[in-house]
Amino acid sequence: MSDYIRSLLSEEQEQNLVDAITQAELQTSGEIRIHLEKSTGKYSAENRAKHWFGKLQMHKTAEKNGVLFYLAIQDRRLALWSGEGINEKVPDNFWQEIIDVMIAEFKEGHFSEGLIAGVEKTGKALGEFFPRKNDDVDELSNEISKG
Ligand code: CA
Ligand code: CA
Repeated sequence: MSDYIRSLLSEEQEQNLVDAITQAELQTSGEIRIHLEKSTGKYSAENRAKHWFGKLQMHKTAEKNGVLFYLAIQDRRLALWSGEGINEKVPDNFWQEIIDVMIAEFKEGHFSEGLIAGVEKTGKALGEFFPRKNDDVDELSNEISKG
């Protein structure tokens, strides 16, 4: 685990975050993941989010309803990338409120709280479009991905 991440997210906070994803996915068939890296390099955060979405095989869920929260820690950038199934169904402003809440927390220095709030809101919001079914499968790991 890289120091630059651990300075923002303790082991306990990371576990709480994984638990929040597990809880959120009890409300929806959507699959939520978080990827942290140091910097976007020469690319935009959106570009990196898209890259990791593919690399983590997130386009392969049955309903194409994966959501990736991408964060470049050093650059303080957040981007969100969601699967085609979601983009077809939700209104254009779907993510704005979620992003606003996260950024408000980040600005207070509440990193893990911001992420947890984003995950919780996403689970709730996606549940309206993609309710969880009884035979739900955890299609994508809930562990935090780092690169
Ligand atoms: Ca699932
Ligand atoms: Ca999952």
